[in-house]
Amino acid sequence: MSELNLILLGPPGAGKGTQAERLQDDFRLLYVSTGNMLRAAVEEGTELGRQAKAVMDRGELVPDDVIIGVIVEKVGAEDAQDGFLLDGFPRTVTQAEALEGALSELGRSLTAALLIDVDDDDVVRRISGRRVCQKANHVYHVDTNRPKHDNVCDIDGSRLIQRDDDREDTVRTRLKVYHEQTAPLVEFYEERGILKRFDGTRSPTEVHDHIRATLATLRLEEQI
Ligand code: AMP
Repeated sequence: MSELNLILLGPPGAGKGTQAERLQDDFRLLYVSTGNMLRAAVEEGTELGRQAKAVMDRGELVPDDVIIGVIVEKVGAEDAQDGFLLDGFPRTVTQAEALEGALSELGRSLTAALLIDVDDDDVVRRISGRRVCQKANHVYHVDTNRPKHDNVCDIDGSRLIQRDDDREDTVRTRLKVYHEQTAPLVEFYEERGILKRFDGTRSPTEVHDHIRATLATLRLEEQI
């Protein structure tokens, strides 16, 4: 397989960021997290950040036209030629169609849509304990994935914080938005024959092993 063009799907808190960290180590892929990108823009006070902040704090989605242009540019760039891993995009059918169109103009297509499935109660439980590092958004959990030293990132030593939108009421809104606007993408990619499902209630290592095995099978099938 010449390139792996992947997207990660699933509700907030399913473990997409954790799996993305691991998959980046396995494969040479450009990793793009729209959530991390938008949070960085808010932090830097750019025009994009100013447009996004209030919407993100409410747990809603930033407008399609704001985000589509940014992603289309990223997947067309030189460093995405060997493949990419998108986390948090697409989040609406309009975004999925825009991505499909942009890739097809480049003579490329998605290899797989990786869906990490977790039910709503689990999501709320997980997200309320989630902490991320201030510097690079490395992900921890107060019960299930503790750092070696309290409140300090194992990887880069920065402080661990709770994201503003990880509070319970905002998480409920994000789940509602997920079911209304993002869940239809499951059918969208199922129809195109590229949806792969993973049980997100398993441990991060089990989910990771399963994803790697699936990608290895895809590569084998391509060589046959
Ligand atoms: P995430 O870290 O992926 O949960 O994203 C955090 C927030 O960023 C979301 O709740 C949205 O407000 C915004 N966001 C991230 N990705 C997108 C996207 N593809 N489309 C619209 N809004 C997005």
